[in-house]
Amino acid sequence: MELLEGKNIVGYSDSFSVTKCMHGFNPATGETLEGDFHVASEEEIEQALDLAQKAAPAYAALPPKRRAAFLRQIAEEILALEDHLIERASAESGLPNGRFVGERGRTVGQLRLFADWIENGSWVEASIDFANPERKPMPKVDIRKMLEAVGPVVVFTASNFPLAFSTAGGDTAAALAAGCPVIVKAHESHLGTNELVARAIRDAAKKTDMPEGVFASLVGEGHELGKKLVLDSRVQSVAFTGSLRGGKALYDLAAGRKNPIPVFSEMGSVNPMLLLPSALDRPDMANVVANSVTLGEGQFCTNPGLLLTIDSDASKKFQQQLASAFEQKSGSTMLNAGIRSNYHTMVEKAADQVGVEITGKGKGNEQSKNSSVPYCATASGKAFLQNPQLHEEVFGPFTMTIVCADKRELDEVIATLQGQLTCSIWGDEDELATFAHSANLLKSKSGRIVFNNVPTGVEVCHSMHHGGPFPATTDARFTSVGMDAIKRFARPVCYQNWPASQLPDALKDGNPLGICRREDGEYVSPK
Ligand code: NAP
Repeated sequence: MELLEGKNIVGYSDSFSVTKCMHGFNPATGETLEGDFHVASEEEIEQALDLAQKAAPAYAALPPKRRAAFLRQIAEEILALEDHLIERASAESGLPNGRFVGERGRTVGQLRLFADWIENGSWVEASIDFANPERKPMPKVDIRKMLEAVGPVVVFTASNFPLAFSTAGGDTAAALAAGCPVIVKAHESHLGTNELVARAIRDAAKKTDMPEGVFASLVGEGHELGKKLVLDSRVQSVAFTGSLRGGKALYDLAAGRKNPIPVFSEMGSVNPMLLLPSALDRPDMANVVANSVTLGEGQFCTNPGLLLTIDSDASKKFQQQLASAFEQKSGSTMLNAGIRSNYHTMVEKAADQVGVEITGKGKGNEQSKNSSVPYCATASGKAFLQNPQLHEEVFGPFTMTIVCADKRELDEVIATLQGQLTCSIWGDEDELATFAHSANLLKSKSGRIVFNNVPTGVEVCHSMHHGGPFPATTDARFTSVGMDAIKRFARPVCYQNWPASQLPDALKDGNPLGICRREDGEYVSPK
């Protein structure tokens, strides 16, 4: 396997700018990893934007089969990187190799799913209202509508999924599937992984004869590169996964442009789990919770950071069991020094609040320079209602149980929650009926409502919704996981009185693509 080159990926020619270099670090050992990664020069940034703009119409106009072939080839090129990719991702993130075998499977799987979905063709939501010249008093004109690519998309890669939410992750796959060129802003925590995958995408683009500029990957230091890309008028949409501060800053920046564009930021969520009385009696409940909270060092956007209970003997017993479960847990290396330091600062801040008690503490890993220590805490419903700090996300293996005095206080607590990616309810079906009001309140706060399952582990499928009211995301109508993620990068185009021969195939009479579409308001299935 060739060594890392440290070059930005811009078009098909090799980029030779001599600029300042950034380096990758192993968060467990602090050692500097192989690779001198050049910060993108002004010329490279300009070239990436220019090529993306030029590629956009040609790429969007390609038959879906061609774009699907490109996505499938990206999957092949990623698999061809074999263990080199797994080892680099593991070294840069502190996460074990096994995690990346799974994450690579997810990355490749979602590329292939998007390929299938665009070949199927129904994603464009075609709708036709046929002309009726005989209509009285006014003739009805022919109106047809479908989703079409928006143009160049900037993707900010996520620190916590170096493969599946990164360079060739869900955002990139969805944008490329929709027909949009992508410019990736590499995450500084996994520059080597980014380069390997970015080269795989470039090679796939070449092999499948995609227009030059369909993909670029740029490295930047500080926020300058990200800001420049978001502010550039050629960029039409932005996808981001990370902190509330970062996601909101980019959203505001884009809204302030002369031609504002959407920024689909996926940010903070504490993913409350309501534990109803029968769940508190389950002997495995505390372990189920502790396993979900500490999975991947708690560095998941769906990590359950808040447990809601009503005070009872069972809730007290559950607290003790949860504390014991946490005491058995060992922390391990977090993604980077900043995330570890932020985690421990947030735990200390939570512990300093009036009425908060740390009830369980796991062990750190002394072999690692960046280990987490898992914690669980408790506070009363009253304390939660009085203190907004207790509503904040603690990104890492931490959860807090809120013990409410009664059902009324529980509903007050739920009513004050911020927007969430997920809310979960544990109990039996009779209790769900008894707590229907609480369940409805939880639904009003979240994009995914879960029953007797943990929220961690987000299935990539057609019916997934991974988005929720602010601050979970900047637009609760859209998902960043699953096939509907493609809709973030497409907009409806309506054709009025357009000549039949010039219509896109999806809108032609006789449904030549055999897709699901609406005709005069009725859903029709392919023949
Ligand atoms: P981050 O600080 O939000 O950074 C993510 C990406 O956005 C980076 O490429 C960063 O660029 C860029 N960025 C951030 N703020 C920006 C700004 N104002 N202008 C331009 N670019 C900006 O996220 P992170 O580094 O992944 O982790 C930091 C914290 O985010 C974590 O401790 C955690 O609290 C949270 N987080 C949440 C999730 C989630 O799924 N909810 C996932 C990951 C992280 P630079 O690299 O140049 O700074």
